[in-house]
Amino acid sequence: MDYQQLIEEVYQEVNDLNLRGTVADYIPELAKVSADRFGMALIDLNGEVYGVGDYQEPFSIQSISKVFTLTMVFHVFRSKLWSRVNVEPSGNPFNSIAQLEYEKGIPRNPFLNAGALVITDALTSKSENPVHSIREFIDELAGQHCVRINEEVMHSELLHAERNTAMAYFLKAYQNFDNDIQEVIRTYVSQCSIEMSCEELAKAFSYLANDGYSLFAKREILNESQSRRVNALMLTCGFYDESGEFAFRVGLPGKSGVGGGVAAVLPGKFSIAVWSPELNEKGNSVKAIKALELLTDKLKFSLF
Ligand code: GLU
Repeated sequence: MDYQQLIEEVYQEVNDLNLRGTVADYIPELAKVSADRFGMALIDLNGEVYGVGDYQEPFSIQSISKVFTLTMVFHVFRSKLWSRVNVEPSGNPFNSIAQLEYEKGIPRNPFLNAGALVITDALTSKSENPVHSIREFIDELAGQHCVRINEEVMHSELLHAERNTAMAYFLKAYQNFDNDIQEVIRTYVSQCSIEMSCEELAKAFSYLANDGYSLFAKREILNESQSRRVNALMLTCGFYDESGEFAFRVGLPGKSGVGGGVAAVLPGKFSIAVWSPELNEKGNSVKAIKALELLTDKLKFSLF
């Protein structure tokens, strides 16, 4: 399979479709990104990099960071983690607070903001300097110093953190939150403000394509069974309330972020990251989703 030719074809076809969406503006700094950016990078299991478009330009990874913090915490707490967060798709928007009350403070999954806050809280209990640990971990996964925190995005989000803060208090009311709320929110907002390029992100995701062994960190990050479970969560919950549609159209485990990025894997074959800032109404990148749909169509296989 000539991956370079494949992604170039996909890139061209998606560009020709002239798809439009809206750049996220609920974090004002995010709205400053130029809407026409578009890049993709694919890394095969030999570590070979294939890239097209703006694949080396850093962008705000936002919710994609939740996969990294989940991995760190899963590694430490193992299956005990699932007493604090469920593994069911939610069908609700990423920042929904409603289900938390019905489910007595146990978020439906670790990729909703409520679930991700529990994960960051768990990480805070185990790390003296959680932001530093997250940065170090992602750098290691990508095999290079690449993690940058965009301070403007971080401050911008901190100024608009009312909803996430409310959720943290709600979790605390149900004894599902152990640490200082402001500290955890700061860490959560910092992890969301990390910038990476498609190439760096695809490298950092290699362990999920490779049964838990990272090609770039050169070590086992998760065991094979844990790695399958993270992939199952990405497939069922990785795209907000559009996860079913993504599985239907694309058929790969992946995670999106409101910065317009999507990172996905085809286990046993490759990891891939696509970025284009214009989002659909569910908060997923219009072009990135189309690109991945065309990619699996052309490959004639997906997870299924
Ligand atoms: N920082 C964002 C928030 O918590 C993450 C959004 C996302 O990418 O889903 O609102």
